[in-house]
Amino acid sequence: MVRTLQGRPDIFLCEECGLGYADEATARECEAFCKTHNACSIEITRAAVYRPR
Ligand SMILES: [Zn+2]
Repeated sequence: MVRTLQGRPDIFLCEECGLGYADEATARECEAFCKTHNACSIEITRAAVYRPR
């Protein structure tokens, strides 16, 4: 399930890969893709606004 970054309620995280997105729809899309393919979609991660570490 998509959740927001701690202290940043405007950033939605993909729970699978940990990348953050500015909109929940894209985070959900990433999460669905990550779960299905066990890898990230470059097309989707391109839109990431937050990368852990
Ligand atoms: Zn992901």
